[in-house]
Amino acid sequence: MIKTGIIGGGAAGLWAACFLKKAELDFVLFEKGPECGRKLLLTGHGRCNITNRKSPSKLQNGYHEASGFIKAALSSFTPEDTIDFIENELKIPLKEEDDNRMFPVSDKASDIRDALVRFAGEQNIITDCEIADVSVINSSGERRFELISSDGRRETVDRMIIATGGMTFSRTGSDGRSYDLIEDVLGHKVTPLYPALTGIPVSEKDREFTSSVSGVSVYAGAGIYLNNRKTNKTEGNVLFTHEGLSGPAITELARYIPGNVVEEKGWIELDFTPGRDEKEVDKELLAEMSQRPNAKLTSIGRAYVPASLSEAIGERAGVTDLVASKVTKQDRKEFLKNLKHLQMTIARQPSFETAYVTRGGVALEQIKRKSFESKLIPGVYIIGEALDIDGISGGYNLQAAISEAYIAVRSLMC
Ligand SMILES: Cc1cc2nc3c(=O)[nH]c(=O)nc-3n(C[C@H](O)[C@H](O)[C@H](O)COP(=O)(O)OP(=O)(O)OC[C@H]3O[C@@H](n4cnc5c(N)ncnc54)[C@H](O)[C@@H]3O)c2cc1C
Repeated sequence: MIKTGIIGGGAAGLWAACFLKKAELDFVLFEKGPECGRKLLLTGHGRCNITNRKSPSKLQNGYHEASGFIKAALSSFTPEDTIDFIENELKIPLKEEDDNRMFPVSDKASDIRDALVRFAGEQNIITDCEIADVSVINSSGERRFELISSDGRRETVDRMIIATGGMTFSRTGSDGRSYDLIEDVLGHKVTPLYPALTGIPVSEKDREFTSSVSGVSVYAGAGIYLNNRKTNKTEGNVLFTHEGLSGPAITELARYIPGNVVEEKGWIELDFTPGRDEKEVDKELLAEMSQRPNAKLTSIGRAYVPASLSEAIGERAGVTDLVASKVTKQDRKEFLKNLKHLQMTIARQPSFETAYVTRGGVALEQIKRKSFESKLIPGVYIIGEALDIDGISGGYNLQAAISEAYIAVRSLMC
């Protein structure tokens, strides 16, 4: 019987272990930390948003540049298959929340993690064991792999699944060190790494603004500018914090911020009336001002943003306390400019320590998309966040890990 070695006991590695167990195949999983699934325990604020009940064709749109690549995996093991496995094999009831996000009824990520470990079988899992080296053994036409741990343990296997994760929340074990193994030992290309799904820190000056409205969440258009060019945009809720900007619209943009963002003079531009023509909003403002000549311009601005934000915008535009009858054309234009094009200078690239996922990783051109097997070394499979695949928030990243684990295991059985 073929034996598989899994490197990494996070979501992807644990699911691969469960699929191997279900197929009654021999395997051993190595996890460098003291326990498996440390990141899994943090997911969904400890509640684990395990998948998203959208059809695979809709779901695939949430994986940015990798949406075409991941299609085969998502349709081979769909969110419905995940739900079925969790409810009927792991015996954990799930519930659906807004935007099709699925959680355990217990609201405990630990229930999912513990059930995966139980199903895979603790006797097949070796913790506190970091695989630091791999040698490929070619003998009499057969290829096998010797996995060598940092403390000298050696294990020979017929197939190898690499599920070493990305480079965020390093205390959970995914500290990016295993990219060296993947690049230097296995010869795979790793694309540049970026922190994704996290807030964006703004300059000290702009922090005064964001701090003054900290906790305010508002629907807005958000764009990133680098070297005076708009590179990416999105629309959704923006949350102001003491460090800068957060909320779904902002965290989706974080993946586009390069390490040299300061040299590229990066800024975020917010539009609080997205989709509306500037002239139309200006006309509306004018009409409202003529109807309410004694009202402050910032009070009129409350039609578009919460009161405290309107005040902050007014202060930035230099129109605090100005009543409509005293507002000049220039004052109005300045207020409107900050309502439609509020600029926040990006202080630095967000931290990998706070990012939920890593953009970048093992280059997909060296991976077979129908099996996630390496094109360079047959018998080696690479799955999960170690790959250059990142999804939006809402259960997309765990579902990717699960579907990839499934098709890798299905393929290595053949
Ligand atoms: C705070 C937070 C909340 C999140 N919430 C959600 C959510 O609700 N829904 C969602 O879909 N996604 C969520 N994510 C993203 C999701 O957790 C990850 O995409 C997913 O865990 C990736 O799984 P993985 O197995 O590829 O990597 P990881 O879970 O990071 O696991 C990799 C494992 O490999 C081990 N390892 C690394 N190198 C070696 C080695 N050489 N030898 C042995 N072991 C090694 C590490 O110790 C680690 O345990 C969240 C992420 C964070 C940080």
